[in-house]
Amino acid sequence: MRQKTVCILSGGMDSTTLLYHLFDLGDEVLALSFDYGQRHRKELEYAGRTCARLGVRHTAVDISAVGGLLKGSALTSSGIAVPHGHYEDESMRLTVVPNRNMIMMAIAGGYALAEGCDRLAVAVHAGDHAVYPDCRPQFIADFEDALRSGNYGQPSVYAPFLDWTKSDIARLGVELGIDFERDTWSCYEGGEEPCGKCGTCVERAEALAAAARERQR
Ligand SMILES: [Zn+2]
Repeated sequence: MRQKTVCILSGGMDSTTLLYHLFDLGDEVLALSFDYGQRHRKELEYAGRTCARLGVRHTAVDISAVGGLLKGSALTSSGIAVPHGHYEDESMRLTVVPNRNMIMMAIAGGYALAEGCDRLAVAVHAGDHAVYPDCRPQFIADFEDALRSGNYGQPSVYAPFLDWTKSDIARLGVELGIDFERDTWSCYEGGEEPCGKCGTCVERAEALAAAARERQR
């Protein structure tokens, strides 16, 4: 049976691949993006263009007033520099936004229920686990329990990349026809061009290189 799904879409590689994957499965998809005052707000334009291309209904919610309460992260406080280095480094803790996934998934869960959806899809993956506790399997399972017990047993949480590496996601994205350079934005700096030095730029480059190597084999 065709499922109806809310997909949390940031406009980066992972959630864009998830959106294409859901589209490929034949789900009826509603995409939801958040403006939480992130300095790389530019990612939202990419999310919007992708949805327009696929003909998916897209809603961008402005929760920047909430973002103002979530100080102490390099993503939401202009006074804190975005750390350079590898995505799994300890220094990347500066990019943790307090309780971000709980907040976004709670809003998305309400939206999914209001729209009569079967599930809520999130693009968390194994590469997120080192630094972001709210991307780990335990949190996803606990959140799903809370969402279902707080409502009437629906919706379920669909996190198909939970045990995948970023390279696995890149590979699927290429298979599904995504042009990552054109269609997605990752850099936390949110400048004119990607900085190439922040954790997410480094991680993206590694994943795309791995996917390209596989293609040549
Ligand atoms: Zn960057």
